[in-house]
Amino acid sequence: MLLEVNDIHVHYGKIAALHGVSVQVDEGEIVTLIGANGAGKTTTLKTISGLRPLSHGSIVFEGRDISRVPGHKRVLMGIGQSPEGRGIFPGMTVTENLLMGAYARKGDMGRELDEVFGLFPRLAERRTQAGGTMSGGEQQMLAIGRALMTNPRVLLLDEPSMGLAPKLIQQIFDIIKVINERGTTVLLVEQNARQALQVAHRAYVIETGRIVKAAPAAELLDDPAVRAAYLGHG
Ligand code: ATP
Repeated sequence: MLLEVNDIHVHYGKIAALHGVSVQVDEGEIVTLIGANGAGKTTTLKTISGLRPLSHGSIVFEGRDISRVPGHKRVLMGIGQSPEGRGIFPGMTVTENLLMGAYARKGDMGRELDEVFGLFPRLAERRTQAGGTMSGGEQQMLAIGRALMTNPRVLLLDEPSMGLAPKLIQQIFDIIKVINERGTTVLLVEQNARQALQVAHRAYVIETGRIVKAAPAAELLDDPAVRAAYLGHG
């Protein structure tokens, strides 16, 4: 197993956000975590990337317990994150934003830049444009591209489709597939459950800080309870 989240409990002050979440991600997979607003999806990703401390349980990456390893070291170990809300630097150009993603690494980043520009031709065309003047979809591409600059073994994506027009949503999911086919394991958090389940190999459903279901993604697409709660009509 590449990444194991074992029975983690996470609190914000006295309020428990996660009450024993376990998620496993195998090398090469796309795994998605779906759930309603406030269920604990973002908190799970932040705990994996080291932005939130856990009060119980463990995070194991490539067989090593990293629960106490600081976040910036986890990036160097191969855990890349594209955060919810994108968090790009609005005054910096596209290229500068991408290079910031790799600031902790030494050496020439030319190859990584070329790879990201190959994946996102739109970013290549706009490499000298200020990040803050890009459209929502372009900023989302930039945030994903920035996370790829460290060549992560696993890419954590928090709501990559949030706030985007339907056509762009499809593009983002197509790109997630390509990223995975090129060898990057993906853990995807989404409210857009249908498309997440269509692209993922396996899925977990989280409700109020607990995993209530784990199954192959195709199975959950046909699960009546999942359909009623998360897939709406159709
Ligand atoms: P969303 O899709 O709305 O982002 P989510 O599934 O990602 O939802 P989290 O953001 O992980 O959910 O939130 C899980 C729980 O923790 C919620 O009850 C939320 O109110 C609480 N929470 C999240 N961040 C904080 C914070 N900074 N301080 C206090 N409580 C928080």
